[in-house]
Amino acid sequence: MPIRLLDPEVAQKIAAGEVVERPASVVKELVENALDAGAGAIQVEIRGGGLNAIRVVDDGQGIPADEVEVAFLRHATSKLRHADDLSAIQTLGFRGEALASIAAVSQVVVYTRHLDEELGVNLTLEAGQVGERKPWAGAVGTTLTVRNLFFNVPARLRFMRTATGEAGQIGHLLEQFALGQPGVRFRFVNEGRRVLDTPGSGDLRDALRSVFGSAIADRMLPIEHTSETAHLRVHGLVSLPDQNRSTRSALCFFINGRRINNPSLAYALEEAYRPALPLGRHPIVALHLEIPPDEVDCNVHPAKLEVRLVHERAVNGALHRAVRNALREVAPVPEVSAPLATAAWPNPLDWFESRLASLPAARGVLDVALC
Ligand code: ADP
Ligand code: MG
Repeated sequence: MPIRLLDPEVAQKIAAGEVVERPASVVKELVENALDAGAGAIQVEIRGGGLNAIRVVDDGQGIPADEVEVAFLRHATSKLRHADDLSAIQTLGFRGEALASIAAVSQVVVYTRHLDEELGVNLTLEAGQVGERKPWAGAVGTTLTVRNLFFNVPARLRFMRTATGEAGQIGHLLEQFALGQPGVRFRFVNEGRRVLDTPGSGDLRDALRSVFGSAIADRMLPIEHTSETAHLRVHGLVSLPDQNRSTRSALCFFINGRRINNPSLAYALEEAYRPALPLGRHPIVALHLEIPPDEVDCNVHPAKLEVRLVHERAVNGALHRAVRNALREVAPVPEVSAPLATAAWPNPLDWFESRLASLPAARGVLDVALC
């Protein structure tokens, strides 16, 4: 075959495939956008493991009416101006690819109103093409619905797990977000059933209670450590050695609020638990690392899950010492405190109901087309 430039539509699908691998990647990007928009409450609803529908409701600042179409163009972002900004990224998003990629492989309906504007916008897109645009008089914030993900990429659909498998991944992801942002209220609704509800109190232990239950969260040990040499502050909660899991899925690390996968941090942490932890068992941790943004390179991976650290060894060492010292202080294992009564917890999320009630059209879309 002769060499030819790809058709823009094909190129768009290829690029979309990098960012949007599966329903959980859509949820990740939409939740990151909501967090970057300063949301204090985020609700995620899914149907069919997210393949039929994903709806993310946030109370963030919204998108200005004259920027909504632009937001769906590739490399369109409000978070980055100059190449220099790449060296000290402060937001979760910056590549300007997510909305374009998601819209290229699904049908999107967005309702958004910016906080400085009287009237919002309701826009529909299909396979990246803008469809209808209407004014919308709703609350400040953004509600984005993604339907029929990969409807135009059948090859990708074949690699999806069952709806239960995809929903499980999304649930796990949202738990991680909740631990990464304890000040934000998260709610996850799968097939109409509420599976996660966090209070958004700002207290990490409260978020851990919502995710792992009080019996675990109430006994976890606080970590608070600052290292001058590693340019690091690490804080969070770690489990006692008798609270452990057969996988590493409960090792949650956040660097400057961003959830990350980092095998060397995981290794440094697990070394601190040896020999107290039985072989093949792993702790439960939610640890926040604060590092100067210019010492973290987030632009390594399209999904921004991996990061590089300038002082990686020093950071690993400081983390190891912080956890080891905390564990040493508590040996032998302290008494179990009585779990807090969950009934006493406020349910702050009724906000969502009122917001969704103001979205008759969006509600209709989900109920009629997908239930
Ligand atoms: P990025 O997040 O990398 O900037 P996206 O494609 O995810 O790129 O989003 C494009 C732009 O759309 C963002 O920079 C932001 O200005 C706007 N945007 C997207 N989602 C939201 C949201 N939920 N609330 C407010 N603005 C949003
Ligand atoms: Mg984004």
